[in-house]
Amino acid sequence: MAATSPLMNTYGRLPVAFSHGDGAWLFDTDGKRYLDCLSGIAVNTLGHNHPKLVAALREQVARIIHSSNLFEVPLQTQLGAKLVELSGMTNVFFCNSGLEANEAAIKIARKYGHEKGVAMPEIVVFDKAFHGRSLATLSATGNAKVQKGFEPLVEGFVRIPLNDAAALQKVADERSNVVAVFLEAIQGEGGIQPAGIEFLREARRICDQKGWLLMIDEVQCGTGRTGKWFAHQWAGIEADVMPLAKGLGSGVPIGAVVARGAAAEVFQPGNHGTTFGGNPLAMRAGLVTISTMEEDGLLQNAADVGGWLIETFRRELGGLPGVAEVRGQGLMIGIELDRPCGELVKSALDAGLVLNVTADRVIRLLPPLIFTREHAQRLVDRLAPLVRAFLERPQAQAA
Ligand SMILES: *Cc1c(COP(=O)(O)O)cnc(C)c1O
Repeated sequence: MAATSPLMNTYGRLPVAFSHGDGAWLFDTDGKRYLDCLSGIAVNTLGHNHPKLVAALREQVARIIHSSNLFEVPLQTQLGAKLVELSGMTNVFFCNSGLEANEAAIKIARKYGHEKGVAMPEIVVFDKAFHGRSLATLSATGNAKVQKGFEPLVEGFVRIPLNDAAALQKVADERSNVVAVFLEAIQGEGGIQPAGIEFLREARRICDQKGWLLMIDEVQCGTGRTGKWFAHQWAGIEADVMPLAKGLGSGVPIGAVVARGAAAEVFQPGNHGTTFGGNPLAMRAGLVTISTMEEDGLLQNAADVGGWLIETFRRELGGLPGVAEVRGQGLMIGIELDRPCGELVKSALDAGLVLNVTADRVIRLLPPLIFTREHAQRLVDRLAPLVRAFLERPQAQAA
């Protein structure tokens, strides 16, 4: 209750506290065990208590946690080189969160515009997008609930529906101040809504033609979750600017914006900065996350286990009245119902499953990338009956 909590009332929290985790399992303070199908919202890439992560972080904490960007940070250079290698892009700026990475991307786009002589640059954004909760990123977000009460919004965003190539072409034909297109490869908070492969290719083509930056928010869908390092790689295209965060540190706060071409050279000394960003502890977490993913074949695992889950949920639930669609890529999965289903989060918890519902009607599954077929089978065995029972209950009369 707000009156007795020392915390601001920003979350309607569930009455469970986790004391520890082990692999894909979480344990609450009463000792009850839960299968983690959420990873702290796509964060715990390696699951909980991973021996390689724990050893690396222990060692790093004992060595140095933070120095400052006033000095060389060798681990930052190392992780930067790794992200450059995996993305095919050229330069990285490290920060601490998704919104910070997106804020940096927005600043890059604006300065890129100014350098081209566009005094009032505009960025194309999309319905149902989520980019964060700073003033600029909530303004880029396509959800009135996130914006309400915080007006005036930051200007300079033009919004169109996702996957509407004609709308994007219309913007290209009619608006001369646009400098960038900014989208999630798969919308996360918006309900696991993928940008279609054809749409991504069309966006790439228009950006090339117009000299716009294609900025792909991979904060949630990136870092291997879909079975490729970055989700837009499924479309065979390259981004110009790519914000990352959530899963990159397996739980240690981290953000990064990766860029190439002109976008990579926009920031010069004094244009942008951060106190904590790129600190040795977070960089070590990023490095061990990526090296463990490589050593343990977690990209392939995400593709295999995720593919099996999507197929199995389609078979188990796909035909039921009340199930609109099962969709996703790798271990980023949405089961969309025809009605609000937030209460399923609580019944899942009772059944020993941690999951989430987003966009009111979409059951969102974001398990750690160490999830095995056995874990996946348990998830199906526990969740499918809950969804069936939920759909069989008489619906409250719509007002
Ligand atoms: C979570 C998320 C953000 C915001 O990240 P924070 O670390 O919470 O600031 C931005 N974009 C996308 C796509 C996200 O899923």
